[in-house]
Amino acid sequence: MSDNYKSIDHIISCLSGYDPNSISVSEALNIIFELTEKYSKGVCSENVCLKDAPGRILYDDLISTIDVPAQDNAAMDGYAFSYASLNGNDKTTQLRIRESITAGELVTREIQEGDCVRIMTGAKMPRECDTVIPQEFVSIVDGVACFNSDIVKQGDNRRKRGEDLRLGKSALRRGRLISSSDVGLIASLGISDIQVFKKLCVGYFSTGNELRSPGQKLDEGCIYDSNSYTISAMLERLPVNVLDFGIVEDDPLLLEKSLKNAASKTDLIVTSGGVSVGESDYTKQVMKSIGNVEFWKIAMRPGRPMAVGTIEKSDSQDIGQAILFGLPGNPVAVMVTFFIFVLPAIQRMCGNITFSHNKIQLPLHTSVKKKKGRTEFRRGNLIRLNDEIYVEPQKNQGSGILRSMSEADCLIILEHDAENYEAGENVDVLIFDGLH
Ligand code: AMP
Ligand code: MG
Repeated sequence: MSDNYKSIDHIISCLSGYDPNSISVSEALNIIFELTEKYSKGVCSENVCLKDAPGRILYDDLISTIDVPAQDNAAMDGYAFSYASLNGNDKTTQLRIRESITAGELVTREIQEGDCVRIMTGAKMPRECDTVIPQEFVSIVDGVACFNSDIVKQGDNRRKRGEDLRLGKSALRRGRLISSSDVGLIASLGISDIQVFKKLCVGYFSTGNELRSPGQKLDEGCIYDSNSYTISAMLERLPVNVLDFGIVEDDPLLLEKSLKNAASKTDLIVTSGGVSVGESDYTKQVMKSIGNVEFWKIAMRPGRPMAVGTIEKSDSQDIGQAILFGLPGNPVAVMVTFFIFVLPAIQRMCGNITFSHNKIQLPLHTSVKKKKGRTEFRRGNLIRLNDEIYVEPQKNQGSGILRSMSEADCLIILEHDAENYEAGENVDVLIFDGLH
């Protein structure tokens, strides 16, 4: 897979107006998508049984092999009859009940005019019948069903053959992230296993001398490594195999060794910390020396510094590169940059090639101040007032305040070129879909 990626230098050289001192969120996403585009074309497929398919990505278009439902059937428990046999002038209809069928049973004889069949939900409609009256509207006298014909229309309570899925028509498209309802739909076609894109292998590690793992003693001046846990949890929700490479000290040799090791074993590496300009931020020089890596100041908040590029798989039999995302160190910045950049990159690399975030528009509950020239992702909450839903940014937006991420329902996107927002103004919102 040596030729999997366009070089990041090449991608960037084709972009007019690229300024490494400040790059917009949409420019960064465009570069990332160019970088990952070729990868998705090289991903192979594997066969999985249907129970293992949710969360995986469909490899081929799924064409319906049968009509679903396979026959017209009753949508209610009631009485099936031919609408044409109703006497139009007579409001009170009386139909003789010929037999009774439940789902899976068939009628044993022809239904004549003036007859009906007691039928349960899901039972195949007798050939001569087109309408079902629910049993609640029927009284039975001596084996005759009596009801007011004013309340029925032709075709009532009949599910039509193929109304869910039609034989030969596309049921699901290649590249689709398979949901719970999708597996139900595939099962309803009688298919027990399907081709999905193979899982990517994603590795991650945290950098920093000050980091201790939960469970260890916390030395003075140190903090616990939370980024490994948020990154791992977010990765576990995606169709990837995950490798944890631990905590790496701020030491150029150790960093180089860890990056080479991770690159040799994975398709994509996510690191946190060490990408800003502090004295112990060696990641930049190390990454540059063993890969094709760009460092960005992204015009966004939180999450300004970030590194993106490729690292050669020089240590392994496997030739090629692993994609690298060097995220900032601050815990909230890590989660936001993962959500905005890494998640769509992984989804697209895994075959979900049109993936982009679902944004919805909601009015702001209070006015918001912001600087022009950067995109801001504010942690927010949904609030309901007088049957309207609003979003309210949280008070503390510090990029180290992970608690506010836990308490938030969504990210509120304040646009790059916008300045201040008034209360009631609509904003784009990314609802956390269980990933955070
Ligand atoms: P850095 O970009 O390495 O300078 O890190 C920025 C801030 O994030 C510092 O306050 C770090 O201590 C903190 N930080 C870095 N890595 C982690 C981590 N894995 N878990 C929690 N906080 C971190
Ligand atoms: Mg650091």
